[in-house]
Amino acid sequence: MDSTRVVPVSPVSVTTGAVEHSVDFIRPRLLATGHERVSLYAGVQINGAPHLGTSVMQASAFLLAQVARDRFGVEVVLRFGALDNSACETRRCPRTGTLYERSFHHALGGERVDELIRTYYGGFFDALSAATGVPYETETYTRQQSRRDFRQEFLDSLLRMDALRWVLAPSHGKVPLSPPCPRCGWAQKQGEATELLTAGPDRAELAAVCPDHGGYTVRVRADDEGADGAYISSGTLHRNLLKERVAAREDALAVVVKGADWAAGCRLLDEAFLCCPGAVLPVRLFTPVVLSTSGAKLSKSLIRAGRTEATADSAPWMLDAGAWPGTSEEYARLLLDLVSLMMSEPRHFERGYTTLEVARLIDAAGLRTGAPV
Ligand SMILES: [Zn+2]
Repeated sequence: MDSTRVVPVSPVSVTTGAVEHSVDFIRPRLLATGHERVSLYAGVQINGAPHLGTSVMQASAFLLAQVARDRFGVEVVLRFGALDNSACETRRCPRTGTLYERSFHHALGGERVDELIRTYYGGFFDALSAATGVPYETETYTRQQSRRDFRQEFLDSLLRMDALRWVLAPSHGKVPLSPPCPRCGWAQKQGEATELLTAGPDRAELAAVCPDHGGYTVRVRADDEGADGAYISSGTLHRNLLKERVAAREDALAVVVKGADWAAGCRLLDEAFLCCPGAVLPVRLFTPVVLSTSGAKLSKSLIRAGRTEATADSAPWMLDAGAWPGTSEEYARLLLDLVSLMMSEPRHFERGYTTLEVARLIDAAGLRTGAPV
């Protein structure tokens, strides 16, 4: 079957008539700044094997970068941030009842984290890069937070916290600051016991409590770069603000690529940027979310918990890319073809897809490569 004739059926989107290709969202900023280089930023989860939703976002990032390069004549690079700060272990403090977490970095160490990144994404990213000609880099959060620019943004955000706290946590104004215990790496998830003792442009001091080792003080300095510096840990929105502020420092147009489920959170991030005078917001591109039959986004935690409503009618490889029966190159080819269909018009890109609809598209467009769908 001619795959070019098979397209999704999608309602008219708000941008119809204004946007011909989803990558055009980049154009106004490119025209305004005259940048000749574009850096696209996307995330890499390491808390379990990627599912189809993750792969769609990542394949979208490669394709968007490729189209940006060809359409605007700019140099492009894709920068993946590996979230080795996500929780590997969780426990409750018997004394306070508060939740503590230990990150993948602290529980497994850097070598094992690198191995996980290679296992989950190495072959897939190499195949996507080869097919699109888009170079990519991967950096762990641990490495990123150890750099001076990230530390400066963290310290700057502490000085603005009176304004930022209500933007980053509109319901209660509590932004979790959770420096891990320097001896064991456990950190209080919501930072209930963390106290900000001092904050200045070059250094800050925080006090926190470990369930095993008692109280400790962490000193963050802008110039204590490297593995020996204090580990910076905070909540999701705060951390993303810092990452985007660092990205804005680069001499390239920063474009953040995220699944469309991030749209609500990004509104808060945009407002947080407005708390910082002279700040330059990144350009944002949202990619289609893959949904289960119930309409809920495919989620690693729901898949791991064996929640049947999250996994019903989905082929095993859609829930766990490791179950793909073919090669990484075949998986990458399928994803590129699938996302190219979704990207053929903005209205097909500005929507979600159930796993059933993905299976139908793969079948109808003749994209099957022998894998059961
Ligand atoms: Zn400890």
